[in-house]
Amino acid sequence: MKDRKLLMIPGPVEFTPQVLRAMGMATTSHVAPNFVEVFGQALERLRQVFLCPSGQPFVVAGSGTLAMDIAAANLVEPGDRALVVNTGYFSDRFAAVLERYGAAVTQVRAPAVGDAPSLSEVEAALRAGGGYKLMTVTHVDTSTAVKVDVRGLAALGREHGALVVVDGVCSVAGEEMRQEEWGIDLALTASQKAVGVPPGLALVMAGPRAIEAFRGRSTPVASYYSDWASWLPIMEAYLARRPSYFGTPPVNLLWALNVSLGQILEEGMEACFDRHRRLSTALKAAIRALGMEQVPVRPELGATTLTAPYYPEGVDRAVLGQIKQAGVILAGGLHPVIKGRYFRIGHMGAVTESDVLATVGAIEKGLAQAGYQFPAGAGLIAAQATFTAG
Ligand SMILES: *Cc1c(COP(=O)(O)O)cnc(C)c1O
Repeated sequence: MKDRKLLMIPGPVEFTPQVLRAMGMATTSHVAPNFVEVFGQALERLRQVFLCPSGQPFVVAGSGTLAMDIAAANLVEPGDRALVVNTGYFSDRFAAVLERYGAAVTQVRAPAVGDAPSLSEVEAALRAGGGYKLMTVTHVDTSTAVKVDVRGLAALGREHGALVVVDGVCSVAGEEMRQEEWGIDLALTASQKAVGVPPGLALVMAGPRAIEAFRGRSTPVASYYSDWASWLPIMEAYLARRPSYFGTPPVNLLWALNVSLGQILEEGMEACFDRHRRLSTALKAAIRALGMEQVPVRPELGATTLTAPYYPEGVDRAVLGQIKQAGVILAGGLHPVIKGRYFRIGHMGAVTESDVLATVGAIEKGLAQAGYQFPAGAGLIAAQATFTAG
């Protein structure tokens, strides 16, 4: 039998056959006319997927962490003050990246793992700080599956004169995010998450205020590779369908990106957000029906791209091996405080109802093998009930 497993982790995700075919095409020159067209089109499509028509897209070879580095390197000057809205592991990382470029970082921390700072706590911090250059927000923290109110936070940041920077690595193209309408100055992601392309691309969308802040710098950007002074003319050239060179673009990944963005836009952003909401609701209903608690402390904090259940009583990490045997690969815990007590199910990108049902089926089989008692099929019934209710 073919050893086919379903990869349901928070990135890399399952990729469509069309995307994978683009990866296997004969690589052309990065200045070949067909590639110039594809790169330009992918940059335009990114504006549509980020819902940021006046944004300046940057696509650079690297991972999501490079996208964070690009944001910090270009927006922070030594001594600038930054506020980090902290919901877990990747918020900690953003604080570290900002500090590396000389920012004085203040953090508003969630009161507990699985929670998020309230809007009023963030507002109080912005007020008390008396002027932050920028504020970072992790839309969905991949270590906890906690989603924050980006729209509300962005409005507060703007009101207090801070550039609003959103780590959307676990959200863009899955979770509803309207960059321009919500006043987000910079949003970033990576190819291997909801964007649906193999790992290797850092994706950054900078709004006009972010570009203006970059142009107004009085010190040079400390990172050679991340510097917009080098990348901005390249992106502008490809948008104008002219070849250009700073660092060789990963040609096949860009073809794949253009294909995936085309597929996302063909579905439509509203339909894409709806599908992620529907799949998430069904999966979370299944998890509850199986008697498992989740890391987010309130349902409204739960991401639609990711689910993080605690293992039930008497079950541990070994069950992930049994679930894998049953055909579905899930991820273990990541947040250091609760690492061994929970697992993570990624459901972003080209996921379908069938993928969710297969996942719930495999979880049930694994749990049963681990000796956990539950009414057989309870999770599947709950998920299917959500789907058939529309
Ligand atoms: C995955 C992830 C990152 C890091 O991306 P890499 O591609 O692993 O470098 C950053 N932030 C969030 C929210 C993520 O989910």
